[in-house]
Amino acid sequence: MYPEERSRRLRTSESLRNLVAENHLDRNKLIMPLFVDESIRKSEEIKSMPGIYNQTIDSLESYADRLKEIGIRSVLLFGIPEKKDGEGTQSFAKDGIVQRAIPILKKRGILVITDLCMCEYTDHGHCGILKGSEVWNDKTIDYYGKIAVSQSEAGSDIIAPSGMMDGQVGAIRKALDSYGFENIPIMAYSAKYASSLYGPFRDAAKSKPSFGDRKTYQMDPPNIKEAMKEIELDIKEGADIIMVKPALFYMDVIREASLRFNNPLAAYGVSGEYNMILNAVKNGYLSEATIDEYIISVFRAGANMFITYFAERVMAREKGKI
Ligand SMILES: [Zn+2]
Repeated sequence: MYPEERSRRLRTSESLRNLVAENHLDRNKLIMPLFVDESIRKSEEIKSMPGIYNQTIDSLESYADRLKEIGIRSVLLFGIPEKKDGEGTQSFAKDGIVQRAIPILKKRGILVITDLCMCEYTDHGHCGILKGSEVWNDKTIDYYGKIAVSQSEAGSDIIAPSGMMDGQVGAIRKALDSYGFENIPIMAYSAKYASSLYGPFRDAAKSKPSFGDRKTYQMDPPNIKEAMKEIELDIKEGADIIMVKPALFYMDVIREASLRFNNPLAAYGVSGEYNMILNAVKNGYLSEATIDEYIISVFRAGANMFITYFAERVMAREKGKI
């Protein structure tokens, strides 16, 4: 009888569809980005990212309770210091904002991944030490090593360098090992593109460069072979987890990386992705289901874990706390 093949047979009920689904929205795999800001007195909603708040050390206590309650297992932590200087010294201060925030999260059993960069900490907003108007690569990676050790001493579970300096992963690995942190993994922002989708994040992290842009160290959007080269280099230098950032416009890069490399692969759905989708949902142009479809598409592309500002919303919805 024609047609001989009836794919619709396996789509007749939700249970059956779930049974044969190739990917599931696995809550263990979602990582919530989190900003802790020393320059504010109480938590503040980020204008361009509705529902996302910069926390203070005080407000982090109750926010961490909420994250625990709704079942968030991992966060990617960013700090914004009160004082910025040319060398971003607050990034490795013992009483720095990230160093103080880590124990609050760890106390709740939340896995803490610390972003490691200097743009939130330097008064010029670039990701490293300047030499004239250029970012001085080799000096900067020495600083990255120092920051990694400081974050580990404060209890960070994973170090995630995002500055895109050459040799940063190797320099960090060496620094960690020499301070007895050989068991702290590195999640490398390996293929981080100079994307226009970061705009809202820079509001949140107060890290817009005071001059120029980051195109001399972040990747050029047209390139995918170069992304594979960057990832390969990071793995050679000791990256444990590799990353593609952003996610939505870079699904092909996620796919290619997942096929080519055996390291766990993270994708970072950046602030502009969140903003586009959330605004469409909030205005009623798209349904809430769009968010789940977006998340699952990143896993289908090949990511093993997803850093997304939607993590909290999805988990809270699940628990009826939204
Ligand atoms: Zn940076």
